[in-house]
Amino acid sequence: MSKKKSNLSRRNFLKVTGFTGVGAIIAPFDQSAKASEEEQTMPSRPFGKSGIKLPILSFGGSLNTSMSPLLLRQAAKWGVTYWDTAHSYMGGKSEKGIGKYFTKFPEDRKNIFVVTKSHAWTLAGMTKDLNDSLERMQTDFIDLFFVHSVSDISELDDDTRLWAEKAKAAGKIRLFGFSSHSNMASCLLGASKLGWIDGIMMTYNYRLMHTDRMKRAVDACAKAGIGLTAMKTQGGGQVKTNTETEFELAGRFIEKGYTDAQAKLKAVWENPNIANICSEMPNMTILMANVAAAMNKTKLSAQDMNLLHQYAQETHSDYCAGCTEICESSIHGQVPIGDVMRCLMYSRSYGDRNHAIALFRDIPEKVRAKIASLDYSSAEKRCPQKMAIGNLMRDSLKELG
Ligand code: SF4
Repeated sequence: MSKKKSNLSRRNFLKVTGFTGVGAIIAPFDQSAKASEEEQTMPSRPFGKSGIKLPILSFGGSLNTSMSPLLLRQAAKWGVTYWDTAHSYMGGKSEKGIGKYFTKFPEDRKNIFVVTKSHAWTLAGMTKDLNDSLERMQTDFIDLFFVHSVSDISELDDDTRLWAEKAKAAGKIRLFGFSSHSNMASCLLGASKLGWIDGIMMTYNYRLMHTDRMKRAVDACAKAGIGLTAMKTQGGGQVKTNTETEFELAGRFIEKGYTDAQAKLKAVWENPNIANICSEMPNMTILMANVAAAMNKTKLSAQDMNLLHQYAQETHSDYCAGCTEICESSIHGQVPIGDVMRCLMYSRSYGDRNHAIALFRDIPEKVRAKIASLDYSSAEKRCPQKMAIGNLMRDSLKELG
């Protein structure tokens, strides 16, 4: 799929969307880039040492894709040809929707790089999930298969390596790796030493990219030839206008002709070692905005980057950095603080209450029952983001329980 690029003139871009509104999204970019009629192409980057080049924007499919065939079709036309899903997304409806799409447009399969994930805790479970995914998506192979949500590299052992080699030899997967929402830097550093991880999708954004440890982890993976996909790149919700910095930030990007959401994507693409960004794009407006940001060649200035960094520092206590090895060890791992914080983020920052509730209910009931009674004071003392963990944990019961 890597060889085929999507060529899209601005005129065609407007035509294929069928929305006059798209002009408003890309026109300001064009003014600054002086490229109003130039041919625009979805940029691509090499994915580690796989020899495959992938678009810098990928379609995050944690939605019922059966309901959005036009969105998938349009994404493919605009060059968003890396589609990410998981066995668990929407109880299988995400993968089934992609399967329906491939049944309708079989010629597109060769152009789409399909990624899925298994949350099974056993190798037999992973085999079952993989076979389910192949059947659901009406395909003979998965381009990249992830173990879902790894928080410690020791979760992947030599048996996992053998499983991956066997699945590759059987032609069921082309590449193997994992996704990570917790302890990302440790997981990346650990993976860089293994020698058999092809790709990783990890939480990475303008808030997390500045720590020395994360910088070292990304560099180590690049040296090891591991392809990196960044997710959760918005680092919480939209920039508000409650403080001076927020006001300045929101205004600055609007003046330049793009939104803070587009600026946050650009901040991640600044690092050439990040192959692509996986973004959930549940509607045409967000798809258009993200495609416009990807195709636009304007770079963020050093001042823009500094302002984003300053904003991240000023709002640190609103954002859980996923360093669960710090806080969960303080409460002897009795409850998954990082998972609960993620549920709150989906609900409060992204306004996706249904998804938040579904994820919250995935936490076993007897574990949830402990949330209210635990003392989180030592976890709060150690939290680098200085989050009010105790209050937030109790809030989660009221809001999502
Ligand atoms: S609550 Fe704090 S220590 Fe725990 S994962 Fe989030 S940021 Fe890290």
